[in-house]
Amino acid sequence: TTLHDELIAAIRNIPDYPKAGIIFRDITTLLGSPRAFRRAVDELVDPYAGMGVAQVAGVEARGFILGGAMAHQLSSGFIPIRKKGKLPRETVRIAYSLEYGVDEMEVHKDALKPSDKVILVDDLIATGGTAVAAVNLLRQLGADIVAACFVIDLPDLGGRMKLEDLGVEVRTLVA
Ligand code: IMP
Repeated sequence: TTLHDELIAAIRNIPDYPKAGIIFRDITTLLGSPRAFRRAVDELVDPYAGMGVAQVAGVEARGFILGGAMAHQLSSGFIPIRKKGKLPRETVRIAYSLEYGVDEMEVHKDALKPSDKVILVDDLIATGGTAVAAVNLLRQLGADIVAACFVIDLPDLGGRMKLEDLGVEVRTLVA
């Protein structure tokens, strides 16, 4: 099977979750498949090996799982981008819009050095609100963002274009 077909088969679609009319894309089944998990991580990092990526930055919480594996593969560090109030030292924080209301995410101020090459990762990009906020946060610390990686793109929601308008390369595996 092609990688694309294998990943599609490994992702579970949950109708009417978290509410009626929404189809939730659930990657826990992909993570639980030894082969699909490895192939997804290998494919996400493939263009970026040997580029001197200093850090992979993962968005809480599913970005932590993918990002830890990607960092290991790239021999880079890992930076957690967390919901507000979870990190113990000085942070930079940014507000971003959710479907209903706003939330804030933050990262440790000393998590990277200016001009460090950074790859951002999350499981899925929809409207791009989360990823755009994460890019702006990392750039506040001087990050050179090499790419933003996602297993799943929901292209109709326009997130990829928002990132590309910010000059960020976007890598996704399935739509
Ligand atoms: P965005 O900010 O609209 O691009 O939404 C992306 C964020 O919401 C990411 O952090 C995703 O993990 C989460 N998200 C939105 N829809 C889904 C879904 O169907 N499955 C898993 N995560 C989702």
